[in-house]
Amino acid sequence: MEYGYVVKAWGRILRGYQPVLSIEITNRCPLSCPGCYAYQPYHVAGTALENIGEHTGQDMVEGVLRLVAKHRPLLVYLVGGEPLVRYRELSNLLPQLQARGVKAEVVTSAVRPIPTEWDLLDNLTVVVSIDGLQPEHDARRKPATYERILKHIEGRRIVVHCTLTGQMTRRPGYIQEFVGFWSRRPEVKSIRISLFTPQVGEVREEVLSREDRRKVVAELRRLRTAYPKLRLTSEMCDAYLEPPSSPAQCIFSRVTHCLSSDLKSAVMPCQVCGTPDCSSCGCAATAGLEAIARVRLAGVRLGAIFEVSRRIGSFANRGRQAVASATSPLRPLPEPEAEPSTDDTAS
Ligand code: SF4
Ligand code: SF4
Repeated sequence: MEYGYVVKAWGRILRGYQPVLSIEITNRCPLSCPGCYAYQPYHVAGTALENIGEHTGQDMVEGVLRLVAKHRPLLVYLVGGEPLVRYRELSNLLPQLQARGVKAEVVTSAVRPIPTEWDLLDNLTVVVSIDGLQPEHDARRKPATYERILKHIEGRRIVVHCTLTGQMTRRPGYIQEFVGFWSRRPEVKSIRISLFTPQVGEVREEVLSREDRRKVVAELRRLRTAYPKLRLTSEMCDAYLEPPSSPAQCIFSRVTHCLSSDLKSAVMPCQVCGTPDCSSCGCAATAGLEAIARVRLAGVRLGAIFEVSRRIGSFANRGRQAVASATSPLRPLPEPEAEPSTDDTAS
């Protein structure tokens, strides 16, 4: 992760903001993946995603830009449903995010072609979800089959994201075959791996046992040196074996503001929603942040520094809200003072 980016994120936290915004920009999806978090009946306050309203056209673009102005994120995840259902709106929105210096990640099944004009956006990462080798993936994610994905990513630059399930992890050599296949594709910049995160007490084939998880992590440790496109540090592997014990302990959940397709309902406590079994969390972003939090600076865990920063930030946020309500209930919250500039290219 870029040094300048971490400094900026820290600055946002100290001012009482969450540096990451995740938005389900549509409630529609042509896929019906088993175990999909979004279409569970508990997704948002006892309602599945398809029953939550959505914005379209200019209304959606302006709604997202208003959220960006309010929450001041450094990174916006645009998820769904299937974001490419709204590719026209995204083609309008993404350059405007770039103009505001906000990075964006579109997480898609690649069920339709990725617009060629997106190649010009250097703030954008397109993340394509590919769940296993062709037979398993096609069974889980049709109509976004391997054949379609390979056609739709041709000439593009993408990041592959795979959520490993219990079924995939029990076949020897499966993960290596998957990582090898996608490493050889010229369109692929990098590969991210998550592990299926269940709800508390959930029993289904996708769930990894403790033993499955231990074996998978050992395999990933071995593969990360052989396949440079696999974005995984040794510290992330440690974090997969020891995830946060609850949402309150989860840095990812605390730095990310997740909203559903009506652009106002909060998805809690994270994109997994409901009552996730954090002790079995396999989210790649969570593992990445946990890995950073476990780094020690002068003997102090960065996670401890984060806790103090969050408290300072909440104090700053309460102060801003008090000032806003004391002056006028109709006035927007005052803008925070300018941040010191950072060099995003430093690493
Ligand atoms: S593509 Fe994503 S949103 Fe659509 S069903 Fe699959 S997991 Fe759910
Ligand atoms: S499931 Fe994972 S990402 Fe969600 S709150 Fe728990 S630890 Fe965090």
